Amino acid sequence: MQKLILGNLCARQIVINGNFQHRFYSTQIVRKSLMGLNKTEMKEILEKTHPHVASSFRLNEIYKFIYKFGARKFDDITVLTKSDRQSLSELYSIDILGNIEEEIKSKKDKHTRKFLFAFQNPKYVPPVADNSVDSTIVSTTSSASSSCGNQQNISDADVAISPMKKPTLKEQKQFNKVEAVYIYHPPKASDSFGRGTVCLSSQVGCSLNCKFCRTGTAPIERNLLASEIVSQLVSVKHRLMDFPIYMTEEERKRASIEKSFVNNIVFMGEGEPLYNYKNVKKAIEILSDGCGISKRKIIVSTSGVCNLIPDVVNDLGVNLAISLHATTNELRDNIVPINKIFPLEVLFETLREQCFKNNNRHITFEYVMLNHVNDFIDDAKRLVKLVKDIPCSVNLIAFNEWEGSGFECSSDERIEEFSKYLYKNGISAPVRHSKGQDILGACGQLKNRNENKAGALQQTEQNVATTVEMIRRNSKQPSSKK
Ligand code: SF4
Repeated sequence: MQKLILGNLCARQIVINGNFQHRFYSTQIVRKSLMGLNKTEMKEILEKTHPHVASSFRLNEIYKFIYKFGARKFDDITVLTKSDRQSLSELYSIDILGNIEEEIKSKKDKHTRKFLFAFQNPKYVPPVADNSVDSTIVSTTSSASSSCGNQQNISDADVAISPMKKPTLKEQKQFNKVEAVYIYHPPKASDSFGRGTVCLSSQVGCSLNCKFCRTGTAPIERNLLASEIVSQLVSVKHRLMDFPIYMTEEERKRASIEKSFVNNIVFMGEGEPLYNYKNVKKAIEILSDGCGISKRKIIVSTSGVCNLIPDVVNDLGVNLAISLHATTNELRDNIVPINKIFPLEVLFETLREQCFKNNNRHITFEYVMLNHVNDFIDDAKRLVKLVKDIPCSVNLIAFNEWEGSGFECSSDERIEEFSKYLYKNGISAPVRHSKGQDILGACGQLKNRNENKAGALQQTEQNVATTVEMIRRNSKQPSSKK
């Protein structure tokens, strides 16, 4: 294979049917981005090229400037000497991974915004010049530039496809798109600052297909890298100008995480975080020791991957939320299909054991209110029995209706009655009306907007129609809203 350099273009020759053809890639040097590396990884890399910078003091400062102060280039890291800044920037960058392709602000609730991120697809295979040819396709060079930020973990092996193998549809997509949402709760007292929460995605799409969840209609494409998860938060904070680099010297002195626009993180975006445990774990490490968000302010929500729940509590040390949504196996099998693998008995045995071992650790249950599906007083009674002895609260979430879901939100009266019953039995059961409903940024509504909606919705409608039919058949209650 001969490699030619033509100006700023690199041509690789490809043998196709005995002829030479050329493919062109930009040879713009891609510097490795330090964004998304934890301290150990950063140290390992810098030790090879800048051993004096990898000393603990300077390393800590670099780490702090990148994640806490929001440095975008080495020149922002003013504690380093000019020559260090210069030589570091020749080899590395602090580029955020991915681009925010779209930002939609809620009209109803002016603080809530949804961000559509585009991350480079590691499996992307650029089209060949002659599309009719399906012969040998070589991998891109490691210096191929990406219009979507520096994708540090992509290797030739990731993008190469074997001879005679046509790229799949997923491989043809250049970008994987996910959504993240920012929600701001204004202060209750005039002297406090309010509460800002970023809801992060952990996977592109989701494999679990919970029936009421719009996100579940997007097929799973891949796990997000830790650097892509961290980049979501860092990008949102830059959009909000919520980093000290945007402040005056005076403001910086008074800055604290309590006065930040972002002080809570929830893993409730696209995907089941425990199915991407390794990357979520690394991202949480950076969010807490780098970005300064306490683990007490981070919630990982799972639909009930029981074998990994002990790790969330003991290893990650963050708060746990369980997407419960049903009180019988029959219904949960249907609307939260992972229940077929980890039924309610297994789920609650795991939770009780963890609460017992971990000093009565608090657990949040999420319960979406579906009209005449899971909102009967009998459901409330079973719920009380299920969570007995577990220090918990149950968030009753008003279902955000979306086209094709087939479900309706319970009426205010039914939700109130349900909530009252739980309170009467000693369980805190606040009613949550999700913010960002009008921008499909609310709970269970996230989905990559480029999906083939028609097919997915049709599939969901059929599934849901069966579920609702089954519930209504078994119920003596009327099927219309109150
Ligand atoms: S509720 Fe969570 S786990 Fe279930 S489909 Fe939606 S994103 Fe996936």
